[in-house]
Amino acid sequence: MAKLKVAELFYSIQGEGRYMGVPSVFLRTFGCNFKCEGFGMTKGVKSEEYLKVDPSLYGDYKQLPLVSTGCDSYASWDPRFKHLSPVLDTSAIADAVVDTLPYKEWKDEHLVITGGEPLLGWQRAYPDLLEHPKMRALKELTFETNGTQALSKDFKDYLDRWGWGHPGNFDRLLTFSVSPKLSVSGEKWDEAIKPEVVADYGMVGYVYLKFVVASQEDADEAEKAVEAYREAGFRGPVYLMPVGGVESVYHMNNRAVAELAMKKGYRYSDRLQVPLFKNEWGT
Ligand code: SF4
Repeated sequence: MAKLKVAELFYSIQGEGRYMGVPSVFLRTFGCNFKCEGFGMTKGVKSEEYLKVDPSLYGDYKQLPLVSTGCDSYASWDPRFKHLSPVLDTSAIADAVVDTLPYKEWKDEHLVITGGEPLLGWQRAYPDLLEHPKMRALKELTFETNGTQALSKDFKDYLDRWGWGHPGNFDRLLTFSVSPKLSVSGEKWDEAIKPEVVADYGMVGYVYLKFVVASQEDADEAEKAVEAYREAGFRGPVYLMPVGGVESVYHMNNRAVAELAMKKGYRYSDRLQVPLFKNEWGT
């Protein structure tokens, strides 16, 4: 049976993107190909805030401190925190996922597989998970990805059968919420912007782009990236979302980002988990 290293598994309200406000189970896998140490920093400077968190002091994600710069889910990929993420087989994960649901069965809830980066090598484990008897009634599934990981042929074929690409599965909806990393993240364009990879997601699911921005300059860079994605065949909508894993930063730039989205004709994505739940781990 396939296994996954699970950083977090919790039930909450989706705070971002297309499913904002929808009750959702979040399965956060461990590991990422990026660090995004640039968020909230002056250009060219890397955040060291997460490096100051001493892993030996924490036995649970819920106790971990929040950071106001860098990646707000640092413990889901920093190897120093790997002891917090058990390796579980897909049957145990399916049991745990359904156990978080209010009625212990799927109703209107949506499953979000997030990270870290959930489309790394873990792709091979998802068919096992989604075919588990407890997962068959799931109707809406989103992968929250940074858009750099190509789908393997086997996984793409599987997703085509799972989602709306397969005749008779019109009531199932597969979404890729792609959050490409602009220079504000500290990652390099050539490694972060992979238009062909994202266009390929569109062969088996609904795809949208969600850019984290803090300024006009970031929004202009997002526009340049959108052109590259469109040229490769991407046809979905584009969201701008404010930087801000903590309330003070979020409130500083959410209105400005909403105005930038209006100016560019893009959609605005909030981060409802920040005002609602202060973006605590497990929300
Ligand atoms: S891609 Fe996402 S999870 Fe990975 S480091 Fe960047 S913000 Fe964090």
